Amino acid sequence: MTQQVLTILGSTGSIGRSTLAVVDRHRDRFQLFALTANSDADQLLLQCRQWRPRYAVLRQSERAGWMERALRDEGLDTELLLGDEGLQFVASDAAVDTVMAAIVGAAGLRPTLAAVSAGKKVLLANKEALVMAGELFMSAVQKSGALLLPIDSEHNAIFQCLPATHTAAAGELAQDRKLRRILLTGSGGPFRQLPLAEFSQVTPEQACLHPNWSMGKKISVDSATMMNKGLELIEACWLFGCEPRLVEIVVHPQSIIHSMVEYCDGSVLAQMGQPDMRTPIAHALAWPDRIESGVESLNWAELSALTFEAPDYQRFSALRCARTAAESGGSAPVILNASNEIAVSSFLSGRISFDRIAAVVDSCLSQMDCGAPAMLEEVESIDLRARALAEQLCGETFAV
Ligand code: NAD
Ligand code: MG
Repeated sequence: MTQQVLTILGSTGSIGRSTLAVVDRHRDRFQLFALTANSDADQLLLQCRQWRPRYAVLRQSERAGWMERALRDEGLDTELLLGDEGLQFVASDAAVDTVMAAIVGAAGLRPTLAAVSAGKKVLLANKEALVMAGELFMSAVQKSGALLLPIDSEHNAIFQCLPATHTAAAGELAQDRKLRRILLTGSGGPFRQLPLAEFSQVTPEQACLHPNWSMGKKISVDSATMMNKGLELIEACWLFGCEPRLVEIVVHPQSIIHSMVEYCDGSVLAQMGQPDMRTPIAHALAWPDRIESGVESLNWAELSALTFEAPDYQRFSALRCARTAAESGGSAPVILNASNEIAVSSFLSGRISFDRIAAVVDSCLSQMDCGAPAMLEEVESIDLRARALAEQLCGETFAV
């Protein structure tokens, strides 16, 4: 069997570690080219010890000297690279077959795009990159012939329910596939039933405790505001070539159905399983084959009910902002994503209360008026302006 040569961008994070857990069960199939982290040199060194990749990349250089010495002292021949340049190199080098894009937030855009432009098989967890630069991203996929496979559990589920001939690079329109609707499911997060009056008192610890999934902090807060579902709506439109009105959001608190596709004859196909990211990761790593992921079977005797409801756009105003941004297109998704990243980190550091996250995003969307970005530099400049405005709002108007 020929081995897949793999780079994991964001290997120290939640998705990165789950990816290594799947790879660990199939060491004969994969060869690790590079592992990367933002600043967590301790964790990255542990991973180098265990996995012996050819390269390790630290985005921040503060602990580079320490890490280089540690690699040398331990006799590891992993080479340490730094910064954005290092990330882009390991995402696009000719020796690499597959790139797991699992950096969180806008920081993942350039390295993920480098992998796409180099025509790699790209396993996309970093939804923010696609939300920010969907048009550029998808045209790079078409130009290079990259294979884009979704890791986000919902999009991976939708992909599994689409005809086997579908690939993102084909850029087919929904109508060609006789598809009536995409049903994007979401649990509704930890505050689906919390009285609205208590939203302002929510602490970061409470917001990060998701009822079904264990994830990084940023996406956990996004799930609590339901901004995550909004970002996923935009992600789905790009991945599957459809209009936002074709994507219906369905709240399904048990997180057993990971999304559904409805065809014109009334058939609805669903993908189900445990809420465990190792399933979509294993699916995409092996596609079109299947490999063991380590995820247990569902216990049908204990699954008493699967329930569904409509999302409450009053309660989750972040979701309303995202739907509006999806429909407006242009620079709105860039502003949505950037202001949300600032608002979430401001909430996590205690500068604003939970209920103000959506208020910051809403305010940035209504105050900024930018044209549709035609180049990556324009995306980045709108992103920076939205961040500056959001910072200002978090420090003044919306500060606690
Ligand atoms: P995480 O915070 O656990 O890990 C993030 C990784 O990115 C870490 O390795 C970190 O070192 C690296 N990183 C952070 N900032 C960086 C920067 N500025 N430059 C370079 N590297 C940086 O996040 P996660 O939960 O693993 O999520 C990763 C991505 O996957 C996100 O886009 C998220 O939306 C998506 N996703 C996650 C899950 C999940 O279950 N965790 C599910 C679906 C989608
Ligand atoms: Mg998801």
